[in-house]
Amino acid sequence: MTALLEVSGLYKTFGTGEAATRVLRGLSLTLAEGEMAALLGPSGSGKSTLLTILGTLMKPTSGSYTMLGQDLVAAEDRALTEFRNRHIGFVFQFHNLLPDFTALENVIFPTAVREGRETATARARGRDLLVRMGLENRVNFPSANLSGGQKQRVAVARALMNQPELVLADEPTGNLDRESAMQVMELIAEINRDEGTTFLISTHDEKIASLCRRQIVVGDGLVTG
Ligand code: ADP
Ligand code: MG
Repeated sequence: MTALLEVSGLYKTFGTGEAATRVLRGLSLTLAEGEMAALLGPSGSGKSTLLTILGTLMKPTSGSYTMLGQDLVAAEDRALTEFRNRHIGFVFQFHNLLPDFTALENVIFPTAVREGRETATARARGRDLLVRMGLENRVNFPSANLSGGQKQRVAVARALMNQPELVLADEPTGNLDRESAMQVMELIAEINRDEGTTFLISTHDEKIASLCRRQIVVGDGLVTG
């Protein structure tokens, strides 16, 4: 098993003095390449904080974080942005799609902005991902007209666009009914199996977590199980 990422002794405190919230308190965690893991914990247990740090969108107060052999605590902002764009995809609870854009436009938009143009290759990959998400007949729909589950599947396709090694999904099913949630999880499992993409999926829902091969339980700022 090759480690994809490793965090060790991670601390994150918001605020100072009496107002300080100590969210992560020496958390350590290793994810191997190709894992599909749930980050399970109640609301307020620090799941979003951890995913934000793992996504290189925020630095820990202290501790170490390496991914693909790179030290992501020492790295400077520009290097982090480049690393993030190449290696990490994000899915959020609220899909953050552009409502006036079609499903396909949403999937390829971040890539198009980054590369300064929209290529035929990008369109083809975006389309292919939407088909794999069961949205073949929704490719050119304005995203505002999609159901919640469909929007979230578009968001997963968007996260996969640049073939990231790691996808961080923060409560991706939190806003969905049970059936749509199961469908999103099944599609994620398929991508994980077929492409070997590593997924870390936060949830407070044990049923959703049980659909992952591994459950990482967090509480009191630490991994507890
Ligand atoms: P979860 O995602 O598991 O619900 P969070 O990581 O969002 O947990 O939050 C954990 C704790 O950290 C909460 O008490 C929250 O209020 C606090 N927190 C999160 N982000 C900030 C912030 N930017 N400033 C201050 N406190 C924060
Ligand atoms: Mg959260």
